[in-house]
Amino acid sequence: MDEENRHAETFSERDEEEDPGSPVKARCWEQREAEPGEPRCVICGRYGQYICDETDDDVCSLECKNSVLQKHQSECKKPGPIVHAIKVPVEDECTYVRDGQSSLPWWEPEEIIKTMNNDQVESLRREIEVHVEGEDIPPPILDFANCKFDPKLNENLEVAGYDIPTPVQMQTLPAALKGRNILVSADTGSGKTASFLIPIVTRCVMIRIHKLSEQTKPLAIVLAPTRELCAQIEEQAKALGKGLPFKTALIVGGDAMPRQIYRIKQGIELIIATPGRLVDLLSKIDFDLGDVCMLVLDEVDCMLQQGFREQVMQIIQALSQPQIMMFSATIPRDIEKLSSTILKNPLLISAGKPSIPNAAVKQTVIWVETKNKKQKLFDILSSNHHFQPPAVVFVNSRIGADLLSDAIKHTTGLKVASIHGEKTMLERRQILKSFLTGELLVVVATGVLGRGVDLLKVSQVIVFDMPNSLQEYIHQVGRASRLGTPGSAIVFINNEDKAIFKDFIALLKAAKAPIPRELASSPYSHSSYALVYKQQNQRKRKHRPRG
Ligand code: AMP
Repeated sequence: MDEENRHAETFSERDEEEDPGSPVKARCWEQREAEPGEPRCVICGRYGQYICDETDDDVCSLECKNSVLQKHQSECKKPGPIVHAIKVPVEDECTYVRDGQSSLPWWEPEEIIKTMNNDQVESLRREIEVHVEGEDIPPPILDFANCKFDPKLNENLEVAGYDIPTPVQMQTLPAALKGRNILVSADTGSGKTASFLIPIVTRCVMIRIHKLSEQTKPLAIVLAPTRELCAQIEEQAKALGKGLPFKTALIVGGDAMPRQIYRIKQGIELIIATPGRLVDLLSKIDFDLGDVCMLVLDEVDCMLQQGFREQVMQIIQALSQPQIMMFSATIPRDIEKLSSTILKNPLLISAGKPSIPNAAVKQTVIWVETKNKKQKLFDILSSNHHFQPPAVVFVNSRIGADLLSDAIKHTTGLKVASIHGEKTMLERRQILKSFLTGELLVVVATGVLGRGVDLLKVSQVIVFDMPNSLQEYIHQVGRASRLGTPGSAIVFINNEDKAIFKDFIALLKAAKAPIPRELASSPYSHSSYALVYKQQNQRKRKHRPRG
């Protein structure tokens, strides 16, 4: 997001002041206590500033890292391997797709999938509402077991509660595992993140086990627009790669750069980064990205817009023809066109109805003049009937977020906080944590929370300021539901949002959501629609019984 970008520099400057390239802490007592929401050392509980490369545990210092390793070694002497070897064909039976310098392992699904005929494949796609375009498209899978994953990855999927793949995963996993370049559009909360992380974990582990790359070279990069989203992706990546030779580095503004450099130099498989910070880092340190064979652009519509596009292209140019996977809930035509100039022989996958908000979210649009918006919000938040905490209130500016948060606190007495790009990473983490644990009932947020961040418990979103683009709106509304759980969105609109009236009405119509009278009859709305609305009303009046 632009916001993220603009402030990455400010944050990195602040980091250097706080942590002027300090060397890795040697002793446990040199480390500070952990703040709520920060990682804790698995040995002493202090701030887990580093990650032990061999075990992936959070540690505070070299001293505690040694303790972790000693513990780990004594556990390793017990029977039972920590890392399960992936069963891939022996080297000479295995085909590798050579694309420049990186070699990608060959993958085939279970026999049962390969034997499906065209009709079966088509009917399966219809059933799961997945549409595909492109050449030589692999059939969807039905079950994770069809993918012949490493047993440890299967175990991690089970622990995460992923019993069966979601529709987007059914089609995307085989395509991604085949090494295809893909452009995927799917509803928010439909399981997109795992669609790219599972193939990344699988491929990285294969490469490491078969020693197809030097240990210190990263193999995959995921780019996402906000720090929160990156942190969330990393968390999921760690959960999926647990116990496997798979480590991650989070490269975002707001976290000290020396720590990030140290982490990458130790040898990791996956970099999860905001583009600005990664470009910044690459300009300071000479990293060998020659073995990066997978690149993901999450929220691609945002990543290819002005502001991010130059940085993303710089990163693509630093790589040697990786497999590129692009994802978003909303992919406008111009972005689709642009992406096709980047992707060679791409496969287009769309699942669900991504051009309208998540169908599980009930949208209630209310016409409210700007001067009345605050009072309307207080009324909603004070009503047992209308307020469904925990809720996110979306606004357009940082200052607006702070002011509105204070006003809500004073007027309603509710526990509320604001979250935006000017808050430090630590503050943002703490707020998110208190929100997710139920300590805070309302969060007033700018676009930082709009995209991808998985607000598992949120069932209500209030769009206080209509964002400038409908894509952003779809993402914000999508926060109210994950994987089809019902949610609600209350949306304030007035003439200040007239630029989007026409498209907004079309969107509400497609979602079968009621359209407020003022919006439908506004001269800024589609004129023919206003006419239809008038006719509908006349018909209704005719049929209404007269008293
Ligand atoms: P995403 O669309 O990636 O933000 O995912 C939305 C939520 O679905 C996250 O909480 C994921 O952990 C969860 N999820 C992803 N895939 C699956 C699956 N196959 N089964 C159950 N939950 C899933």
